[in-house]
Amino acid sequence: MPLVESFLQTTAPSSQPQPQQNRYQVLNVVSRGSYGVVYRAWDTEAGEIVAIKHELTGLSRSTLREIKILQSLPRHRSIVELKKVTVDERGKVLVVMEFMPSDLSRLIAARKKPFTAPQLKVSVWRILKGVLFLHENGVLHRDLKPSNILINQKDRIKICDFGLSRWESESGSYSPEVGTQWYRAPELLMGKTNYTGAIDMWAVGCVMAELVLLKALFPGNSEIQQLGYIHLTLGPALQLMLSVSVPMLTPAGLDLLISLLAFDPNDRITAKDALQHPWFLEF
Ligand code: ADP
Repeated sequence: MPLVESFLQTTAPSSQPQPQQNRYQVLNVVSRGSYGVVYRAWDTEAGEIVAIKHELTGLSRSTLREIKILQSLPRHRSIVELKKVTVDERGKVLVVMEFMPSDLSRLIAARKKPFTAPQLKVSVWRILKGVLFLHENGVLHRDLKPSNILINQKDRIKICDFGLSRWESESGSYSPEVGTQWYRAPELLMGKTNYTGAIDMWAVGCVMAELVLLKALFPGNSEIQQLGYIHLTLGPALQLMLSVSVPMLTPAGLDLLISLLAFDPNDRITAKDALQHPWFLEF
């Protein structure tokens, strides 16, 4: 971790008083992305573990967007908490957030057997709560995927990575080049620029299917192949695949999934309606 060593200590947390000029002690690297690194660190002032996103190249548009959106939103239990934005001695931005021990991508990769019906239901419920909160506050996340959904030991789920998010009210046409391809809604793949929160609902459908199947539903290598997968899989083929391979998904659960994966965004279920779906009343 060469860049951070000058301002962050890399020792383990200690009960001894620490020099206050180094508020954050790096414990380990959580993830390395194209813009920077996410660290797990000890906040010596607050006495807690935090996650720190550290920009390597200066302030990127995506980090600026993430900071603005997180600062403008009220606190919500399904959205990662922004604790502080600060800079290191070289002027590189540090985004300090609450720390979450895992994300759905890592959880799915480590999973040997299917999630139980209650585990699946509670996860989808909490993701939908977070998305409803964002949409009610006029924010489109635009990059929902398992690695951007954090989870802790109590199965609390928090949405993170607002680097591609935007307010629905922002003027100008929207870029269709948003989101990670496997989770990108058909209208984005077809280049539509006046899309709605329905793109996030599609991504929630892909995440729900991935929780069920323990693998990505539409793992296309190109935009064309992605659309091809979607065309091949939607409809009766999806119903058959899920009802054969995952009997724990009841007809009501399957109905919700199909409503999330409606090809036409106007037919796709909203977060509000999805939370009212009868699947959540089944025990
Ligand atoms: P990037 O935009 O650089 O990909 P993300 O915000 O998506 O950065 O974070 C990358 C990864 O870092 C996430 O997939 C997650 O595993 C981890 N991560 C992000 N925020 C936190 C956090 N608050 N607590 C723990 N891990 C986090």
